Amino acid sequence: MADYEAQVVVIAGGPSGLAAAVQAAEDGADVILIEKNAAIGGAANMGMGPLAIGSKYQQRQMIDITVEKALNMFMEYTHYNVDGRLVKRYFEQSAETIEWLEDMGVEFEGAYKYFTKSEATWHIVKTDQGIGPRAASFMNKALYARAQELGVKVLLETAGKKILMEDGRVCGVLAADKDGKEVEIACKAAIICTGGGGANPEFIKEQTGYTFGVDMFNFAIPGNVGDGIKMAWEAGAAKVPVRIEQAANFEGIDELPQSVPNVLMQPNLLVNKFGKRVMDEEQMQNTTYLSNAASHQKDRVLFSIVDTSIVKDYIRNGVDEISMVRFDPDVSDFFEGVEMAEKTGNKGLFKADSIEELAEKCGIDVDALVETVDDYNDYCDGYDEEFFKRKKYLRPLTKAPYYAAAVRPGGYGTVGGIRINENCECCGDDFMPIPGLYAAGADACNLYDDSYMFLLPGNSMGWAVNSGRIAGMEAAEYVDGEDD
Ligand SMILES: Cc1cc2nc3c(=O)[nH]c(=O)nc-3n(C[C@H](O)[C@H](O)[C@H](O)COP(=O)(O)OP(=O)(O)OC[C@H]3O[C@@H](n4cnc5c(N)ncnc54)[C@H](O)[C@@H]3O)c2cc1C
Repeated sequence: MADYEAQVVVIAGGPSGLAAAVQAAEDGADVILIEKNAAIGGAANMGMGPLAIGSKYQQRQMIDITVEKALNMFMEYTHYNVDGRLVKRYFEQSAETIEWLEDMGVEFEGAYKYFTKSEATWHIVKTDQGIGPRAASFMNKALYARAQELGVKVLLETAGKKILMEDGRVCGVLAADKDGKEVEIACKAAIICTGGGGANPEFIKEQTGYTFGVDMFNFAIPGNVGDGIKMAWEAGAAKVPVRIEQAANFEGIDELPQSVPNVLMQPNLLVNKFGKRVMDEEQMQNTTYLSNAASHQKDRVLFSIVDTSIVKDYIRNGVDEISMVRFDPDVSDFFEGVEMAEKTGNKGLFKADSIEELAEKCGIDVDALVETVDDYNDYCDGYDEEFFKRKKYLRPLTKAPYYAAAVRPGGYGTVGGIRINENCECCGDDFMPIPGLYAAGADACNLYDDSYMFLLPGNSMGWAVNSGRIAGMEAAEYVDGEDD
């Protein structure tokens, strides 16, 4: 005898799960949502907002982005290694999703770029404290309130463990409460939304080859350990590659004043352990590209280097590039920030009185770095014949002390794992849907091929909310049909 009964069980309460629960309930389904943690929101509580294409904000701001343009960009970027029908459905729904969220009380600041070369697709949620990290927690709260208003039963501190199947169809979900007591919920459809496995080093190693804390420094949201992916595989869903949603990591410097990462994330001289440049540093603004570039180096590390005159220039004139995450061009407390790093024993930041000493401290080939800096300083007088960096970003390194920050591969978590179709139905190796089983959000995010598509920012949360909605509407329709 089951402990609870519902038509649809949503496993997890991040943005994908909340959106799935709200949509399924709006479409008439009786829904239970179970969430492992004591609070809802998942990783998205740390983020700022979702992608939309063709929203009213973009129209008002005269931003030229259509579903056709975004879809073409996306498919080119991923070399068509993704499901074009699914991407199209997601993009087509995304503008209306902004209004759906507004109807439940979410407000938006507008549509923004993440970095200069990206498109303004990032719809940042308005808060009572201005723009900043954690803005999207306001969206999660509104989704949660709407779910409760619609009568969705929410069981917190209840972790999904297994999808129960009968005659090849979903018939229930087995979960455990905070004391480990089994909770059985009978249902006709289950939607898996557990946010990937970014907090599970073994899962990361097994699925991606990276070693957490050694050559991978991704955010690890407690509870996101790959549960849903394993449950889906066990229920017969096909395995598709799990990737790290890469975003470069500047070791330890998030704990320092923002001026420190802000200076060291500019398009400065960037070298590997051989003292060689590896890219046009202007592209560092795309944190996925930077993380990928670091992944391909010896010891998977790069170093961003500035001298004192460059820092003073940034202090006098503001930094070249700002983002909505690091939006303050004022870096006047950089030197105090470095002192703080020295006192707290930060291992990712280096200061030296000569290029040779800096190279030694960083473990870079000394002669090679001296030569690279000489060449680079020459390019600053003329033209970057090595990587064609634009003149405006070329500044010579001549005045001690010199500063460097280690840049390593990082990420927001994992994406992908469960094969789904355009209806967010989980599919087996034969591509046939498993009746009653759906997945959304990071667990089912097979959208980017090998690299997060940061040129359309807000993609990750945009996918979570929109895939949640798709799964919710499809599951509601499925259970309705089953009841007939
Ligand atoms: C610092 C940071 C900033 C970000 N900023 C942005 C941004 O501005 N825009 C953007 O597009 N993306 C952003 N992202 C990424 C975005 O937050 C994620 O893509 C999104 O949250 C994924 O949603 P999800 O619902 O799939 O998973 P999550 O939000 O991670 O939620 C997963 C939920 O599943 C629960 N759970 C896990 N296992 C179980 C289980 N067995 N049973 C029940 N519950 C379970 C977890 O407790 C969690 O609540 C950011 C990520 C980070 C880390």
